[in-house]
Amino acid sequence: MEEIFKLPAKKILELLRKGELSPYEVLESFYNRFLETEDKVRAFITPLYGKKLEELKGKRLKDGKLFGIPVALKDNILLEGVRNTCGSKILENFVAPYNATVVERLKKEGAVFVGKTNMDEFAMGSSTEYSAFFKTRNPFDLERVPGGSSGGSAVCVSVFQCPISLGSDTGGSIRQPASFCGVLGIKPTYGRVSRYGLVAFASSLDQIGVFARHTEDLALALEVISGYDERDSTSAPIEVPPYSELLKEERKFRLGVVKELEELEIDEEVRESFNGFLKEISKEFEIVEVSLPTLKYAIPAYYIIAPSEASSNLARYDGVRFGYRAKDYKDLWEMYSKTRGEGFGKEVKRRIIIGTFSLSTGYYEAYYLRAQRVRTKIYKEFLEALKKVDLILTPTSPTLPFKIGERLKEPVKMYLSDLLTVPVSLAGLPALSLPIDVKKGLPVGAQVIGGPFEETKILQFSYYWEKTYEFPKKVVPKL
Ligand code: GLN
Repeated sequence: MEEIFKLPAKKILELLRKGELSPYEVLESFYNRFLETEDKVRAFITPLYGKKLEELKGKRLKDGKLFGIPVALKDNILLEGVRNTCGSKILENFVAPYNATVVERLKKEGAVFVGKTNMDEFAMGSSTEYSAFFKTRNPFDLERVPGGSSGGSAVCVSVFQCPISLGSDTGGSIRQPASFCGVLGIKPTYGRVSRYGLVAFASSLDQIGVFARHTEDLALALEVISGYDERDSTSAPIEVPPYSELLKEERKFRLGVVKELEELEIDEEVRESFNGFLKEISKEFEIVEVSLPTLKYAIPAYYIIAPSEASSNLARYDGVRFGYRAKDYKDLWEMYSKTRGEGFGKEVKRRIIIGTFSLSTGYYEAYYLRAQRVRTKIYKEFLEALKKVDLILTPTSPTLPFKIGERLKEPVKMYLSDLLTVPVSLAGLPALSLPIDVKKGLPVGAQVIGGPFEETKILQFSYYWEKTYEFPKKVVPKL
C-alpha cells in the first residue's frame, strides 16, 4: 500500500471504517511525515502531533464524517486550552479559553487537531513573512514565500503533514497561498461559515475556509464547518447542501472570463498558464466574456476598508485584558502606548494608522465612505456578470511565488498580490483556487468565483478539473 500520509482523507476514512487502519496508525504516519519535513518548511507555530498521539493510545474514536482525520488550524482560530498567537507578540502567551464553532463542529465529527499554523501577524500580509516568530517556506522552492496570510495552513497540506487544514481569508489569504503551494483553497460566501472564535481582522470581510489536496476532502470539510450559528450575528440561516455528495453530478457550465483582465498587470507566465487552462476547458464548456469595469479600484478600496475595521478591532489589545503588557511605565497612557508599540509589528501598526486616519472626522467621507461606494459598485457588477454565466474564472495571483524578502520593503507591491482575490472578498462571494499548471518548477493557480451560496457549483467544477488535469498527482513538491 502507498504510505498513509499520501492518501486522500476520503480513502483513509474508508480504511478506518473497515477497521483496516486505526486512528493511531493514521496519526503516526502523518507525525513521521511532519518530523521529516517541518525543519525545512516550518508550517507550525504550535504542533500537537506528539500530544495527540499519546491521547489516541488505546482510545476508540466514535464514527463521524471526519473520524480520525488529522486537521491543522490557522493560529487565529481558537482551540481550547492551546496557545493562540495570531502570529503576534502581543498574543504570544494567550491561551484560548474556548473552542471556535468550526472547531466544535470538526471535533463532533471526529477530526484530530494536529496543531496551529504560522501566519502573517493578525492575518495582514501575503507571504507569512510578517509572522512575529519565523518565516514559513514554499515547499516548491525553499527560497520563496508560501503566500499568506494562511501560509502555514497551505504548506502543511502541500507537504502531506495533514490532508485538511483551515485558514481565514479577508482579501485572499486562503486562495493566494493555495495557489503558491499547489493545493486547493476555498473561501466560502460571507456568512456561510461561523466566525465565532476566529480572531477578528476586518469583520465585514473575514471568512474561515478550507485547504485540501482533493476536491472530495475539501467538500467534506466545508460541509462540516458550514451552517448557521446563533453566536455569529453575520452567519446566514441558509441550509447547507451535502457538498460531498453532489460533486459527481454532470453539469454544463457557462464560464465567464473578465474583459478587464487585459488592463491589469499580470506576469506573462501566469497569463500563459491561464490561457492554456481556458483552452483545455473550452473543449467541454462554453466560455464567454464578462465585464467588471470597477475591478481596478478594488485594491485602493480594500486598503481603506480593511485597515479601518482593523483599527477598531485591534483597539482591544491594550495590555489590560488580553496578552502582552509592557514592563516599565509611568502611568496608564504610557502602559497603553508601550504595550502596543512593543507588541505589534510594523505592518499591523501601519494598518492601524491608515485605518484611524481614514475614519477620523473630516476624512471619513473622503476615504471610508467613498471606498464603501466602490465596494457596492463591484458587488453589483459581479451580480450582473453572474446573470450571464455560472462561474467566473481568473488567475488567482498575478505572479508566481516570489522570493523571501523581495516585497518586504515595498508594502504596495505586497498589497498587489491580492489584485484578483480582493474584489471577490469585497463582494462577499465564494471562490476557490485550484492548481492549473507548473511553471519554472512553481505552481500556478486559477480562481473560480461563484454567486452567493453557490459553493456547490464551484466544487463541481473543481471536481471536473481534478479528473481532467489530475493536479493531486501533477502538482506535488519534491520535498
Ligand atoms: N493580503 C491581504 C491583506 O494583507 C489579505 C489578507 C487576508 O486575506 N487575511 O490584507
